[in-house]
Amino acid sequence: MASPEERLMEWLRDAHAMERQAETMLSSLASRIENYPDVKAKIEAHLGTTRQQASLLQDCIERRGGDTSTIKDLAAKFVAFGQGLSGIFVGDEIIKGAMASYTFEQMEIAAYRILIAAAEQVGDRETSAVCARILREEEEMARWLSENLAPLTQRYLVREAAPELEAQH
Ligand code: MG
Ligand code: FE
Repeated sequence: MASPEERLMEWLRDAHAMERQAETMLSSLASRIENYPDVKAKIEAHLGTTRQQASLLQDCIERRGGDTSTIKDLAAKFVAFGQGLSGIFVGDEIIKGAMASYTFEQMEIAAYRILIAAAEQVGDRETSAVCARILREEEEMARWLSENLAPLTQRYLVREAAPELEAQH
């Protein structure tokens, strides 16, 4: 049994680990994209946002008296999940990457809704406000991916059908 305060701390650490994993996924994805410059730019922009989010979460953890030294170990929690999504370097890599990114954003959205509720439960308004800000950033990225899945799929199919064009990434 954990107190609400202990549970909030655990979830903040989980979220920090999740953002570190997001950083790994997004940077590997962005570095591999060659033929979809707008997608690459959006992923790179969200990579910058993700790094800020990790640092904001670290501030929340420290402000609540938590220690971040065990964060490295906790990051392993999300490694398998991230690799399962992003490690699929197959012919339709750009499509699988977009699908994985969309899925990851949905997990982040759920995580921040949970964190906001937990922070409010213990009266930590600053943590709640930080998580609400991050939630908006995740929702914006999820919306962009959602709107771009269909056009990206069609661009991919056009490129794949053209023998002189490279479509994979
Ligand atoms: Mg994030
Ligand atoms: Fe995100």
